[in-house]
Amino acid sequence: MPELPEVETVVKAINKSIKSRQINKFKIINSKLRWTISSYIPSKTKDNYIKTIYRRGKYIIFKLDIGYLIIHLGMTGIIKFINDKDLPYEKHDHFDIEFKDGYILRYNDVRKFGSVHYCKNIDNQFLVKKLGCEPLDDTFDKFYLKRVCQKKEIPIKNLIMNQTIVTGIGNIYACEALFISEIKPHKKSKSLTLDNCEKLVNAIKFVLKKSIRDGGTTLKDFKSLDGKPGYFKQKLLVYGKQLCGCGNEIKILKIGGRSSFYCNKCQK
Ligand SMILES: [Zn+2]
Repeated sequence: MPELPEVETVVKAINKSIKSRQINKFKIINSKLRWTISSYIPSKTKDNYIKTIYRRGKYIIFKLDIGYLIIHLGMTGIIKFINDKDLPYEKHDHFDIEFKDGYILRYNDVRKFGSVHYCKNIDNQFLVKKLGCEPLDDTFDKFYLKRVCQKKEIPIKNLIMNQTIVTGIGNIYACEALFISEIKPHKKSKSLTLDNCEKLVNAIKFVLKKSIRDGGTTLKDFKSLDGKPGYFKQKLLVYGKQLCGCGNEIKILKIGGRSSFYCNKCQK
């Protein structure tokens, strides 16, 4: 599943690729996504200029003259960059954003968990307004984490993956950050010390920044904009591993339905 670093990479690639910033038309090819694509998006976006393209959590947001387009890649969403209008559609193509110069961003999603929405005011948008703080912002610090951990019995891994608390940390990065900060994924949130929180916050920022630099992890079903088969594969420390650097066998525990990789010896 594309996580925050992959989405950041996609945003950077779109920003680099799109020359004309004026939308010629938004074309719905197959409206069946996690939410059916609203039939009014084409008329709302026609001839609009894109002012900025940015990431919020795992959402790609196009700020237009009037309103916003919000795209989520779901599990298997990819955005293809096309400069041939007549290129035939492929299976699982869902919509086109066509620009005045003829270039097209084409959204393809095999498993259809992605989405696209239009809204006038981003602060009231039902998906975006629920998002917690950005993990790479200064507001996400040890004090914030300690405050939200207090009184919470849930495993720390579930807490940092809760999008309403801090947004954009998926399973892989949660495992990696907990490993680096030497905290067991099932440790109760309320038992984290301020020192634990500081280590964890730093580890989360570290793994996300490193992954953004590397262009995101390589995951099957995920292609970069230029059609290359996936991103540069970064070195993971614990996720998907069998042996820890200390020689111990990596354990796998289901937490919140997700596989959590950890070392019983290195993580307390
Ligand atoms: Zn170990």
